[in-house]
Amino acid sequence: MPAVPRQPVACRHDDPGLLGGGDARSCPAVIGTPAQAYLDEDDRCAVAADQIDFAAADAEVALDQRQTACGEKFGGCRFGGGALGLRGGHERWTIPSMENLTTTPALYVVATPIGNLGDVTLRALETLRAADLIACEDTRHARRLLDHHGVRAATLALHEHNEAAATARLIDALATGQRVALISDAGTPGISDPGARACAAVRAAGHAVVPIPGANAAATAMSAAGLPDARFLFAGFLSAKPTARRHEIEALKAVPAALVFYEAPHRIEETVADLATLLEPQRTLVVARELTKLFEQIVAMPLREGPAWLAADDNRKRGEFVLIVSGPPPREGVDAAAERVLKVLLEELPVKQAAKLAATITGAAKNELYQKALQLKGG
Ligand code: SAM
Repeated sequence: MPAVPRQPVACRHDDPGLLGGGDARSCPAVIGTPAQAYLDEDDRCAVAADQIDFAAADAEVALDQRQTACGEKFGGCRFGGGALGLRGGHERWTIPSMENLTTTPALYVVATPIGNLGDVTLRALETLRAADLIACEDTRHARRLLDHHGVRAATLALHEHNEAAATARLIDALATGQRVALISDAGTPGISDPGARACAAVRAAGHAVVPIPGANAAATAMSAAGLPDARFLFAGFLSAKPTARRHEIEALKAVPAALVFYEAPHRIEETVADLATLLEPQRTLVVARELTKLFEQIVAMPLREGPAWLAADDNRKRGEFVLIVSGPPPREGVDAAAERVLKVLLEELPVKQAAKLAATITGAAKNELYQKALQLKGG
């Protein structure tokens, strides 16, 4: 039975200021610091022993169980790790298995930190160290991270202007049995970053594409936003052109989910102004700025207050931004289209059945349709 690392660390989520207006939730962007942007020694707490069933975990982490195959062509290649069972729940933590990572030729799509260089996973480091060639959005920028972690592989530039040509070189390398990694300047490749075309072409050429997950600004912001929405839609960057941007916002208005945007500092004011004008002003705006960095700031406010909040302090317009707008307020009553469907169904069906069917057809709330149906019948 192999040794299983036993240092899971849990984060305390009782920081009352998390969504307050305070600036600079401090996290020195220190090279090599583990991913504890908000936590000092006192704030970190090992998961209590009684929360984790280590016996169950040991039993589950047999060598032959802790690997997952990566596709038919490479059925023999193995990645991944074992699992720690958490008592009383279905959660499972995967523990990295360091012996059998990344030994097979494939394109490894590796997430890198979005600020704090400590936010790189063990698996990402193993993958980068084992790579023969690393495609980077900006090779000089990447070198800082790679040098720091002792990654010596050759690098190749792959950015939005040369993705096709660079991808051809990746495919050549894969054909000669090399292990190739793909990273972007920050976060997860392919998410508002180059990578999608490379992944598609590599897969079409018959090679495996293996994601090595990690930091992503949208998920990081959502994780701390504290919004009630069960769903979110990742909208990425809105258009830089005002008219197109406004059309895009209008098109998103009725989406029944929180909306997540990326924005650059030079456009933050106009984008927030458009969001506040075009979406319901009572929706909540979360500004997540400089995540995982020294001046990290996560603030929630009514959307209508967004423009004034930004205008109040020039520092609030600096850095990198994720903007999240909570989902639309519940619509009151039954809309005209749903009512039309309901009326037609009521001509043939009893109230309950008509309401149920109308709800399935239109997506409107069954209860509201039922009330409306009673009203229509009564009238
Ligand atoms: N691939 C990246 C990811 O997985 O999040 C996104 C790359 S995109 C080119 C860069 C944008 O992501 C920034 O303009 C900003 O909107 C957002 N972003 C990246 N890092 C961030 C950070 N530390 N804090 C807030 N937003 C960030």
